Amino acid sequence: SALLSARTTAIEEAGIIRMSQKARDLAAEGRTIVSLTLGEPDFDTPAAIRKAAIEAMEAGYTHYGPVPGYPELREAIAEKLRVENGLAYGAGEVVVTNGAKQALTDAIYALVDEGDEVIVLAPYWASYAGIIKMAGGRVVEVASTIDDDFKAPPERIADAITPRTKAILMNSPCNPSGAVYSRAELEALAEVVRAHPHLCIIADEIYEYIVFEGEHVSIGTLEGMAERTITINGLSKSFAMTGWRLGYLAAPAPIAKAASKVQGTFTSAANSFVQRAAIAALKGDRTACEEMRETYRKRRDAVMARLAACPGIETMTPPGTFYVFPDVSALLGREIDGRVLADTDAFCDWLLEAHGLATVPGSAFGDARCVRLSFAASDAQLDDGLSRFEAALKALS
Ligand code: PLP
Repeated sequence: SALLSARTTAIEEAGIIRMSQKARDLAAEGRTIVSLTLGEPDFDTPAAIRKAAIEAMEAGYTHYGPVPGYPELREAIAEKLRVENGLAYGAGEVVVTNGAKQALTDAIYALVDEGDEVIVLAPYWASYAGIIKMAGGRVVEVASTIDDDFKAPPERIADAITPRTKAILMNSPCNPSGAVYSRAELEALAEVVRAHPHLCIIADEIYEYIVFEGEHVSIGTLEGMAERTITINGLSKSFAMTGWRLGYLAAPAPIAKAASKVQGTFTSAANSFVQRAAIAALKGDRTACEEMRETYRKRRDAVMARLAACPGIETMTPPGTFYVFPDVSALLGREIDGRVLADTDAFCDWLLEAHGLATVPGSAFGDARCVRLSFAASDAQLDDGLSRFEAALKALS
């Protein structure tokens, strides 16, 4: 429509939304569909956190709070970052947001002018591109494949830096690949960043608790990186709180202040009683988080065992997150059921229409070779879904 801004029309409908809608449409027609598209924990929020929210509501936390969040929560976040991550941000350098997604938005709007470039490490979470474009920035993709363990080598990243580059946006553990950067890999990346004084890192650490092998390292702890790192995190994945919408960023004071100004412009502050519940979550123990991680680990191992029986694909065992990202590129271009599986979209459409399995095409993540399956699903759903996947791939081979 001529009424719409160029900025909104430039944003593509997320591939994941398209696939979920298609799965719902087929289900409404009476088909049995297994959906492994979801990017959220299939667990309930722990009871103690739910109780804290109810108590806060009863206690009158129903009014506007300060834009960057309640001081006690900012203090609890600074303490968490200090104790768990070794990051030395003060409470005044923390901004509480409506989910990590808004933390990313606040950060990018705080940094990016029209035409500025932000490097994203592909495959990457689709929303990054939309946020950067909305802010008037340019998305510069640096690709990696399964042969790189889905981690772009530092030389490749260095080659993409121009005088207009404002930031490198990274995500470890990574949605969709499950890749986790080691300390040595982060050191190499930090060296690239340090060579460019006007460059900063936006580190999305939302999956930090879902690591099965190795350890999660915050790049902001490395030498010379504290003053140029914006750390993004939130409670959605770690505490099974996706619908509560609570996240945060931590950054050097001038950036945190600018991010807070962005947030004050778009939305006043995160929900008041949810912020009080977040204090309880962060100050409480991590038993529930650890139990969820161990459940994801068992599922990951079960999924990998099933994928081993699937011909034609190559899959990295994900060291983190609740996603697997098989490379199906050897199968693209094949003809089956009267259609050509020209790209990952066509592959996923066929998987859904012919075998009743919903997955997300790599194209949704800036990747032309892979498909994403989520194992944030019940054992029964996973078993059924993987049987469908295996049958589909056997039919193709
Ligand atoms: N970052 C990544 C990599 C994600 O996968 C997601 C959610 O899928 C988010 C951020 C957003 O999380 P939140 O619910 O805190 O906005």
